Amino acid sequence: MLYILFTVDGDWEEYYEPALSEEARKPDQAKMLAWLRWEHRLAVWLAGGRLVHLVHTSPRARDFFLRPEFIALYREMVESRGSIGVHCHEDDPRRAYYSADARRMGRAIGFLTAALRAQGLDPLAYRAGYLSFHPNTIPVLEANGLFLDLSCEPGRYLFHGELPVSDWRGAPANFYRLDRADHRRPGGSAVIEVPSAFYVEREALLKIWRRAKELSAGRGPRIVTVLTHSYEFGAPLKRLKIALALLLLKMYGTFINAGEALALAKEAERHEDRDC
Ligand SMILES: [Zn+2]
Repeated sequence: MLYILFTVDGDWEEYYEPALSEEARKPDQAKMLAWLRWEHRLAVWLAGGRLVHLVHTSPRARDFFLRPEFIALYREMVESRGSIGVHCHEDDPRRAYYSADARRMGRAIGFLTAALRAQGLDPLAYRAGYLSFHPNTIPVLEANGLFLDLSCEPGRYLFHGELPVSDWRGAPANFYRLDRADHRRPGGSAVIEVPSAFYVEREALLKIWRRAKELSAGRGPRIVTVLTHSYEFGAPLKRLKIALALLLLKMYGTFINAGEALALAKEAERHEDRDC
């Protein structure tokens, strides 16, 4: 059985552009709200509402996405069986990445998680900006009750110039419990890793189709994510591609939210008969 989390990182394109002025790199509230409404709409139409929207926080936009207009929309997402998660960009794109700084990660992740909980929302999932992950984030996730990590793209080994950004070499292609010393191998922490298997804007629909078919034929449950970004919802053709990808995935798999993924992974651990 193939289970899929429809995950959307709440980012905007200017964030990644070091050549722009600080002002031009800030998010635009009206645009972001319109994109998030599209995420919600497509999830309700095509994924049984099972959207996992990952809320951005970064030194440039620490609390921007905690404005009441966004909180109201997160509540609607959750009411239609979606989930809210934490997307922490502790970085200055192309200049610095702080994912190995456990104290800094702890402050950023703790801040957003507590702020969302204070609004009655219950984030369970985490994804690192740029999928940049260090194992010393694992205790931070445990302490914050974020028991589902979505930062893994098996095989990813990314550098920006000389700067190491992300390393998932050798990671399993199916869900696993993170090892505290090495995030790329199964172990005994309280955090379940769900790797990405589909990346909408990077892959042709035909490739997504073939892979969905192949993954659905494996042994035991397989839990993976399909990844896209909020800014992809700004153009009709891009929305159409996302909608078609969701339709293809729906032919071979079942969409689930963060809570359902955790329950399924724990149930599967009791049986342990699946492909990696
Ligand atoms: Zn991001």
